Amino acid sequence: MSLHKCQKCGTYTMKDFCSKCNEEARSPAPAKFSIEHAKKYGKYRRELIRRAKEEQKKK
Ligand SMILES: [Zn+2]
Repeated sequence: MSLHKCQKCGTYTMKDFCSKCNEEARSPAPAKFSIEHAKKYGKYRRELIRRAKEEQKKK
């Protein structure tokens, strides 16, 4: 599980959708930052890069 942030009201949630307004909730970290972070801390590198790329596809 990971922490997500509502795109509409900014509420943090563990779910994929905001419990207040039902908008989609995503990871609050920008994709670019996630990739840099992943390079620096190699443990979960592949997983983080994959998720960051998926985030970029959505936009
Ligand atoms: Zn919301």
